Formats: sequence, structure tokens, C-alpha cells
Amino acid sequence: MAAIETQNLTKRYGSDVYAINDLSLTVEEGEVFGFLGPNGAGKSTTIDILLDYVRPSAGSATVLGYDAQRDADAIHQRVGILPDGYSLYDRLSGRDHIEFAVDLKGVNDDPDDVLDRVGLDASAAARPAGTYSKGMSQRLALGMALVGDPDLLILDEPSTGLDPDGIADIREITLDHAADGGTVFFSSHILSQVEAVCDRVGILNRGRLVAVDTIDGLRDAV
Ligand code: ADP
Ligand code: ADP
Repeated sequence: MAAIETQNLTKRYGSDVYAINDLSLTVEEGEVFGFLGPNGAGKSTTIDILLDYVRPSAGSATVLGYDAQRDADAIHQRVGILPDGYSLYDRLSGRDHIEFAVDLKGVNDDPDDVLDRVGLDASAAARPAGTYSKGMSQRLALGMALVGDPDLLILDEPSTGLDPDGIADIREITLDHAADGGTVFFSSHILSQVEAVCDRVGILNRGRLVAVDTIDGLRDAV
């Protein structure tokens, strides 16, 4: 079973804006897949369809074997998402956020284990998220996505606004998840970040998938 499979997926706005156009893509279980494309290429739209936040105009998508349009609840239960532009509750502590995610998913993860995985110590976890740096916020958001040990982790522009240390943290957490057998779908407009973690890369441009290959394969092609 593929972790993600889309067939001829198209999303049109109005009569002539194709956010994605005839996208057929397979992400195998256990791989770290880079979804690379400039702003406006259609990356978020694709992710939104996988999670049933947006309905496709044509085509179909399955996630972990579930039909995105029919079984969104099952998908949400098994997928961890780091959205682009996520928000935290300024007055709640880091720990509160993780506890909230644990409740929401109905799982029994130990919040301290999750905080530990993303490198937030007890004193950081006790502070309100409003006092966090961008890097700490990102680690907390990633911790929330990791609650329930998802089979698939979807990261939408996870490195936005981070300094090099923050980017390295994201890379390490991503690779840890993959080493544990999880699949990662890593969406970004920055080649170097995709290159650093991904087994294979799909390149999206103006809604169309223009190449899918390993980093080495893509390098040989140019
Ligand atoms: P990316 O995530 O790669 O930056 P998006 O999926 O956000 O790209 O957007 C792809 C294209 O679809 C862009 O041209 C964007 O303006 C357009 N688009 C996205 N959502 C809408 C919408 N709700 N209405 C109209 N156009 C949209
Ligand atoms: P991202 O950078 O993650 O692609 P965007 O800033 O492009 O996000 O889009 C944020 C939201 O605005 C999305 O829900 C998208 O569907 C919507 N959107 C994007 N472009 C347009 C557009 N041209 N018209 C209407 N809504 C849009």
C-alpha cells in the first residue's frame, strides 16, 4: 500500500485558474518524499485535498489506503500535520499544547516523551507559548504533529522563518521519524532543505508535476 497516491488530481478555481493540474503521484510507505515547487505551484492545495479540506475538481487521492474524500476521519487519525502558518495559544504552556493534541487524537502518549523528542525541556514546556522563539514554536508544533505516532507526517514549509539551528532541528526530527519507519511528505520551495532529508523529490510547477526522481537522478538530468 502506498502512503499517498493521487490519480489525475485537478483543482480549478473559476474557469481558468488551475491550482493543480492532472497530478498523479505515488509516495511509498517509509520514504521521505520532497514536494518541491515555487510559491503558488499548488503544494498547499495538494495537501489540502489529501486531508479533505479542499475538494478536487477531478481525480482522486488515497492516503494510507483511505479515500481522501470518503474517509477523512481515518486519515486525520493516522496523519500528523505541521501546517504552513500554524498558530499556537500564546497563554497556554508548551505542555498544555501537547496535552491538548493527545486529547484531540484520543491517544495515551506521555506528553513528556513527546516534548523530549522535539527537544523541549521541562522548564521550556512550562512556559507560555507566547514567550517562545520561532524555533521553539516550530518544535512544539512539530511535537503536536507527532502525537499518536502518525504513520505519515506532512510538513508544509516547515523551515519558514527558522535560523540554521532551527532548520537543523526540523531535519533531525524528520529523519528520526523516518528511521522509526514513518513516512514523511516534506513540502518546500527551498531545494537545499529538500535535498538534505528526502529520498525522492517531486517537482511541482504551475500545478503540474514536472519531475519525480531521487536527488541523484535529478542531478544527473540537469
Ligand atoms: P503553494 O502552496 O505551492 O504556494 P497553493 O496551492 O497555495 O500553492 O496555490 C496554487 C495556486 O492556486 C495559486 O495560484 C493560488 O493563488 C491559487 N489558489 C489557491 N487557493 C485558491 C482559492 N481558494 N481561490 C483561488 N485561487 C486559489
Ligand atoms: P501557502 O503559502 O500555504 O500556499 P497561501 O498564502 O497561498 O498559502 O494561501 C492561504 C490561503 O488562501 C489558502 O487557504 C488558499 O486556498 C487561499 N488562497 C490562495 N490564493 C488565493 C486566491 N488567489 N484567491 C482566493 N484564495 C486564495
